[in-house]
Amino acid sequence: MSIIRFNALQETLKRSALKVEQNEKRSALFGKNVFNKYAMQQYLTRAAYESVMNAKEHGTRIDRKIADQVAVSMKDWAMSKGATHYTHWFQPLTGATAEKHDAFFESINGSLAMEKFDGEQLVQQEPDASSFPNGGIRNTFEARGYTAWDPTSPAFIYDTTLCIPTIFVAYTGEALDNKTPLLRALQALDTHATAICKYFDKNANKVSATLGWEQEFFLIDDALANSRPDLQLTGRTLLGHLPAKGQQLDDHYFGIIPARAMAFMQDLEEECMVLGIPVKTRHNEVAPNQFEIAPIFEEANLAVDHNSLLMDVMQKVSKRHHFKVLFHEKPFSGINGSGKHNNWSLSLDNKINLLSPGKTPMKNLQFLTFFINTIKAVYQNEELLRSAVASASNDCRLGASEAPPNIISIFIGSQLSAVLDELENVTIGKLSPQEKTDLKLNIIGKIPEILLDNTDRNRTSPFAFTGNKFEFRAVGAFSNCASAMTALNTIVAKQLKDFKVAVDHLIETKKLKKDEAIFNVLREYIKESKNIRFEGDSYGTVWEKEAKKRGLSNNKNTPEALKIKIDKNVIALYKEMEVMNEVEIQARYEIKLQEYTKKLQIESRVLGDIARNHVVPTAIIYQNTLLENTKNLKEIFGADFKNIAKEQIELIMVISNHITQINALTLKMIEARKKAYDFEGLKLAEHYCNKVKPFFNQIRNHCDALETMVDDNLWPLTKYRELLFTK
Ligand code: ADP
Ligand code: MG
Repeated sequence: MSIIRFNALQETLKRSALKVEQNEKRSALFGKNVFNKYAMQQYLTRAAYESVMNAKEHGTRIDRKIADQVAVSMKDWAMSKGATHYTHWFQPLTGATAEKHDAFFESINGSLAMEKFDGEQLVQQEPDASSFPNGGIRNTFEARGYTAWDPTSPAFIYDTTLCIPTIFVAYTGEALDNKTPLLRALQALDTHATAICKYFDKNANKVSATLGWEQEFFLIDDALANSRPDLQLTGRTLLGHLPAKGQQLDDHYFGIIPARAMAFMQDLEEECMVLGIPVKTRHNEVAPNQFEIAPIFEEANLAVDHNSLLMDVMQKVSKRHHFKVLFHEKPFSGINGSGKHNNWSLSLDNKINLLSPGKTPMKNLQFLTFFINTIKAVYQNEELLRSAVASASNDCRLGASEAPPNIISIFIGSQLSAVLDELENVTIGKLSPQEKTDLKLNIIGKIPEILLDNTDRNRTSPFAFTGNKFEFRAVGAFSNCASAMTALNTIVAKQLKDFKVAVDHLIETKKLKKDEAIFNVLREYIKESKNIRFEGDSYGTVWEKEAKKRGLSNNKNTPEALKIKIDKNVIALYKEMEVMNEVEIQARYEIKLQEYTKKLQIESRVLGDIARNHVVPTAIIYQNTLLENTKNLKEIFGADFKNIAKEQIELIMVISNHITQINALTLKMIEARKKAYDFEGLKLAEHYCNKVKPFFNQIRNHCDALETMVDDNLWPLTKYRELLFTK
């Protein structure tokens, strides 16, 4: 460790020790830089406060006068904390966050200067953001985009800048970001889920989706990471031989967090606390130098914002600690990849978890309603969910025998499986009074409040019920959770809408009582959606075969997975739920395809460069050493040299073969890239996937073989061993 690094580490450790001494509690930091309820109560008039709260809870409009008031108070609050600038903070379709800072400072008549920020600046802005991907929605010369305040996610101060979470839309109304469709999906979910809750409680008011993400990542010494062009330019290693020791001893998982990583985590957690990101859990992950950080769950829109913010903060804090954070889903071949499990549930009036079994049969019927409807929604839209997590980088992780496969299935555990099996076998049609009582007591009454399966859960499942929430595990570490959350909440909203129609129909036409009608519909749903339930090992070919028989999709790469996004049923679904129109869907589809193609194109170029400019020349230098050595041996030993230099001669031949292969394959790969000019859109992405990408591993194998032969002193790339085990 360099002296600068050591000093940085010592500094952080001293600071944290001092804090403990001063007894400064973490909780005191929480939300210090957030314009939250408490700050608003201090700074806003009662009318303004209520107006913002109403907008947050019920989506009501904030009128212009009030917006002016809020803006002035927000500015005063922000300036009292040292902020000098403000920005509309948004999430364009790059998946990252974007901001353009403006100073509060304004000059008046060229001489007088004062700090100014009014309602107009708060509510709407027009960033010249014409370079963000828009999939053809905006032609730069005509439709401008604007950002608009999202009062459901509180403003915060980051690096002396007041950040106002906003949506980003075109003047023609189409969403240009990730947040707008998510907010619309959450609205649809609220509408249809609340309608169902009213079956059980007339006073039900609002249902929110909750999200608790688990962010996995690697921390690599930045000097080492930057010494590798592949890590620097693509976020993953494109070659590298596995070290003798990998993760086989499982000695990293949940082990003691190394001191330098710990210092980073502590610093990070402090920044998160101040920003109101409720991080709670941190631990080592399976692979060496792999970690996880997870918060207490929050309302989904806020949780998505917080995850995006966290990823930014991590980049910033890591620089201070001379680390590079890798969010790529598979930075090292043969070593565990990184996911971002999305724990998802539904919360009624911020009080009741609708996916938590209750104390009474009626509460359990409500639980079963949401539980079974979610299963049905996932069953009918498994391919859409798969497409929501598709990306070039996640392709490297999914199905790699340590992460969920490309097939979406649901694990619910033995207890709930037994309940559903029993429920399924109740007679069709109107239930007899006897059956009704039996049902309530035997089946519904059997669900314990705390589910045992919580402890013996199946880690191989891409979508698992874990006691009081579903855990969508296929989401990748690099991706913005908005995509997965928009898809999931939309399909559940639609499913709940259909459910209500079916139940009401039975009540009206068959004169069934409400709970009986609910039972009847749920029972049919259990039967219909059985194929999505899978309790076994989701890794490997046995399940692949079985899933095929069950008619489940198995899209192994992004171009294949994305196709469903523009299927006519999917377009109709998003339209019906008012989440996205056809233009918005088409735009996102094209952006995703372009992103995929560009990523592969960059990887292909970088790999070609490393193979030919780093690996081959090094192999030649080493080969020359061997040749020199052989020549010398011949000089001394004469005819006997062939026996004595046998190994050297063999090695010279083997190296030659690898060099020839690398050159030939790289040229072929370049040829394949040139052919790509004939295609565009899906065809182009498919060409990269099927004609360019296959060369990656072939070239890599030759390079990795050379790594094991060439003198370690000569090898030009930092090795896996050094990247993964330098702490
Ligand atoms: P594990 O790694 O064992 O799956 P973690 O404790 O790392 O569990 O993460 C569980 C995540 O689930 C946390 O972010 C937690 O806040 C979240 N969670 C718990 N209850 C809910 C809920 N009702 N809705 C959404 N997320 C939840
Ligand atoms: Mg976890």
